[in-house]
Amino acid sequence: MFRKRNRWQKTQNRRRPGRNLHHLLPRARGGKNNDRNLLLIDIEKHEAWHRIFGLRSLGEVIALLQRLDRMKRHQPLRKAA
Ligand SMILES: [Zn+2]
Repeated sequence: MFRKRNRWQKTQNRRRPGRNLHHLLPRARGGKNNDRNLLLIDIEKHEAWHRIFGLRSLGEVIALLQRLDRMKRHQPLRKAA
């Protein structure tokens, strides 16, 4: 099973040089290797994603950004002119 998935991923990488597959729910957290959970993404962006967001799921990242947005709107650094 694992070998089969690996071969599929390698095929995808060959078709799209410079990109690889990101799991929206990380495999380490039970994410599957299916279409709904996979995103082809530039390798540099993929590495940056994990540096910033670690193993958070897409839903958790969206919720985090929404919290930051709400926080920012309630805590402006300067008063509006
Ligand atoms: Zn990833």
